[in-house]
Amino acid sequence: MDMMNYESTRNKNLNFKASKAILQGLSDDGGLFVLRDLNKKKIDFSQFLDKNYYEIAIEILKIFLGDFTKEEIKECVYRAYSHKFKTEDITPLVKVGDNYVLELFNGPTSAFKDIALSLLPHLTEVALKKNNETKDILILTATSGDTGKAALEGFKNVPKTNIIVFYPNNGVSKVQELQMKTQEGKNLKVCAINGNFDDAQRGVKALFTDKDFINFLEKKNLKLSSANSINIGRLIPQMVYYIKAYLELVKNTDIEFGDKVNFVVPSGNFGNILAGYYTKLLGLPINKLICASNENNILYDFINMGIYDRKREFLKTNSPSMDILVSSNLERLLYYVSGQDNEYVKELMDNLNTFGEFQVSKTILDNIQENFGSGYATNQETKQIIKEIYDKENYLLDTHTAVAFKVLMNNNDKKHKNIVLATASPYKFSDSVYSSLFDDKIDDEFEIMNALSQKTKGEIPKNLLDLNKKPILHSDVIEKNKMKEYILEKLEGLL
Ligand SMILES: *Cc1c(COP(=O)(O)O)cnc(C)c1O
Repeated sequence: MDMMNYESTRNKNLNFKASKAILQGLSDDGGLFVLRDLNKKKIDFSQFLDKNYYEIAIEILKIFLGDFTKEEIKECVYRAYSHKFKTEDITPLVKVGDNYVLELFNGPTSAFKDIALSLLPHLTEVALKKNNETKDILILTATSGDTGKAALEGFKNVPKTNIIVFYPNNGVSKVQELQMKTQEGKNLKVCAINGNFDDAQRGVKALFTDKDFINFLEKKNLKLSSANSINIGRLIPQMVYYIKAYLELVKNTDIEFGDKVNFVVPSGNFGNILAGYYTKLLGLPINKLICASNENNILYDFINMGIYDRKREFLKTNSPSMDILVSSNLERLLYYVSGQDNEYVKELMDNLNTFGEFQVSKTILDNIQENFGSGYATNQETKQIIKEIYDKENYLLDTHTAVAFKVLMNNNDKKHKNIVLATASPYKFSDSVYSSLFDDKIDDEFEIMNALSQKTKGEIPKNLLDLNKKPILHSDVIEKNKMKEYILEKLEGLL
């Protein structure tokens, strides 16, 4: 097998092994790592019918991690998931009315990011050994709320790694903020920036191609990496639950093997839904992947018109983890739908950088629309659907999952089974969820959380329950153009 099978979306000649792609995060030319010829590999998923979550994960990782041994993969998977999630099936599938909800939020930080970020640190450790890397890793992460906490939790005290997380000041929920500010661990820093998520992500991405900065790190014996979904090690673990959910419907005789289903995905950086697209390329019987956006509906516009125009106002919504205007992983989709045309992808990305927009050809738009549906929900609609589903089905949606549910209701396709991906615990967004259901006003976030639990007879995840008793360990706030200076200053404290 060809080991050097990852390339940059923007340059065919930049080739890497899987372990290098994971360690590096982003290609030197600013492109994203993609597995070549993914569309030519086909899997007979009926072989996986008897496999559990762990076993499916191992099979998928084997395809994508060409230079990892089966033993290494197995060890990573078990260390990542056993006894870390609420249930041993990791991602329970729940019937809600005529539809299904795939719960991805039962991990250590109550967000779907836990699934990938529980595994990534283990993959990183193996990759370091494999490459005889003498340097330590410095992970820089921009977060719209959930990635930060899940990455901190995943990488805390992992040998040979350090992590710095940037989040938008006043741009995340109270609970998300507290989760990060109370994070313990010797190898990490957390910092708010006066800017939005896009500012944080742009700042981080710029450092990956900043030669002076990289040289400086080299001298400190450090190597840069990323825990954002630009890292291929984040995407691969996310494929597993699409496969598991599909096979579960087959096993429950809700569908026959081969019947197509729809997945509705609350989307921001386009990482979660892209993992679904990867499973479709490998042959999982998917009709449409339905991309659900909030009022920052740039992906909705793109999927409908083929024009990606980021020159618009950034809105703060009640689903803050989806408040994003530059969806990095779209670049990977463009690579595959263009038939792996790196030059074309580079041209589009140059247009985005120079003019703030790009437009794809008719052929490419047709291809995208064959695979993807799209829709969006306003803040008001999000709150209404939370109430409607709670009243009708006695099921509590968080605001992000509610966006997806609303989009499902709008393009209700009765010919196929529909699976909504639930990306966060409702208790992470207690304020918005509570005020969708009840009229009384409570000020304190934790009193709201308790009231929500009592009135809906639901259980607050333990990691959230203890949060207000923990000491605040991080309270740095900086201007958005000072990220580099901040890192240089803080490195002394970390090393
Ligand atoms: C990150 C996140 C999303 C968006 O996922 P992407 O992979 O960035 O598209 C949706 N919902 C929640 C709760 C999230 O944390």
